[in-house]
Amino acid sequence: MRYISTRGSAPELGFCDALLAGLATDGGLYVPQSWPRVTPLATSNYAHQAAHIMQAFVGDEIDAAVFSQLCDEAYSSFRHPDVAPLVQIGPEQYLLELFHGPTLAFKDVALQLIGRLFDHVLTQRNQRVMIVGATSGDTGSAAIDGVKHCSNVDIVVLYPNGRVSDVQRRQMTTVESPNVHCVAIDGTFDDCQDLVKAMFNDAPFRDANSLSAVNSINWARVMAQTVYYFTALQSLGAKASFSVPTGNFGNVLAGWIAKQMGASIDKLVVGSNSNDILTRFFDSLAMSMQPVVPTLSPSMDIQVSSNFERLLFEMNNRDGSATAQQLQRFRTNGELMVEPDQYSTWITPTFRAHRSTDSETLAVMKRMYNEHKMLVDPHTAVGIAAAEEFAVRGTPMITLATAHPAKFPDAVEKATGVRPGLPEHVADLFERNERIVNLPNDLQAVEAFVASHHS
Ligand SMILES: *Cc1c(COP(=O)(O)O)cnc(C)c1O
Repeated sequence: MRYISTRGSAPELGFCDALLAGLATDGGLYVPQSWPRVTPLATSNYAHQAAHIMQAFVGDEIDAAVFSQLCDEAYSSFRHPDVAPLVQIGPEQYLLELFHGPTLAFKDVALQLIGRLFDHVLTQRNQRVMIVGATSGDTGSAAIDGVKHCSNVDIVVLYPNGRVSDVQRRQMTTVESPNVHCVAIDGTFDDCQDLVKAMFNDAPFRDANSLSAVNSINWARVMAQTVYYFTALQSLGAKASFSVPTGNFGNVLAGWIAKQMGASIDKLVVGSNSNDILTRFFDSLAMSMQPVVPTLSPSMDIQVSSNFERLLFEMNNRDGSATAQQLQRFRTNGELMVEPDQYSTWITPTFRAHRSTDSETLAVMKRMYNEHKMLVDPHTAVGIAAAEEFAVRGTPMITLATAHPAKFPDAVEKATGVRPGLPEHVADLFERNERIVNLPNDLQAVEAFVASHHS
């Protein structure tokens, strides 16, 4: 399987190079040359199914037995025997619980595998990388946990000092591995992101320190997320629609890809919070940027849905230069329009979108508790609100539950009066030692820190 860039002018790569590259050299995102059709195995073992479904994307670049072993290891870090259990909450309503991994959010599903894939490929190539990232909470902890056992990966994560929750911070700062470094920056999340971008744009620095990234546009992350659409449908035994709380369009794009691969998915419902660039696009055919506002579902507080570029590439019939031009105009004017026929071909048959305000999110959490004695996290609640708007009799609706309620205890307590407890495997989180370095919002200081930890 070869990988091509959505902007049409970067070299084609194989799976392992696309994995390590993340972003293509023309600024585009890698996608497979074609969408493989896959028939799931008759197994309820998540790791086996994952290895089978993803093998079509990995091809012969990684030995099938080795890849299967990596999947076994990645998914044995999940605390539920089904890895991603499907739970019924109403006559045709289900939750797919994706939060049983080490850091209690769905990002573990991809990042537990990616850490192991990186280490395998780097070991074979006798290379070492320094992963550098900025986080507003969930990505940093999942990335750190994914690479903490790697022998050829160091990681530096920048987070805004005082602006992530205690659970999120401790999930990053209490990891004891010597290759893990958490840096509290005196600034905002945007400042952290700007520092990371500046380090990647500093070519001599980037090359001297072998910088790498595992952000949500990495193809392997999207790939790993296609698997649970198949396993959910398999445990349901029927065609279904999915409701997906999303900001970057990564998780719902994985559903669209699963549908291209043959999964019997009817509709894909996009759940946004007040940062509703996707919902506004689906209502108006126009994508326009607006400032980010903080909400109760912070992991979806984003301005631009970077993974949408992969769908846009399809909407342009895989014309990379047309996609690049469209995105160039978006950056210049802050607006991106699609043609009505593109919209009716690609969007109308499959996608629906719903926006939840914080008060609707709280109301859903409260109702889930009153009616089902179930605590749900605010991101999942955004998904449930969207699922309810587009429920159609006769078609089951599966909402992706993207975080454990204990990851966002303040919001859960505000809605229900109940403070969720941490699950057993992380119950001692508040007793563990923290390791944090404080740095000013200053590129030189951060680069000096990274360079001193590059081995
Ligand atoms: C990251 C995250 C999301 C959004 O994921 P996308 O990649 O934007 O689809 C939703 N919920 C939680 C809990 C997250 O951590």
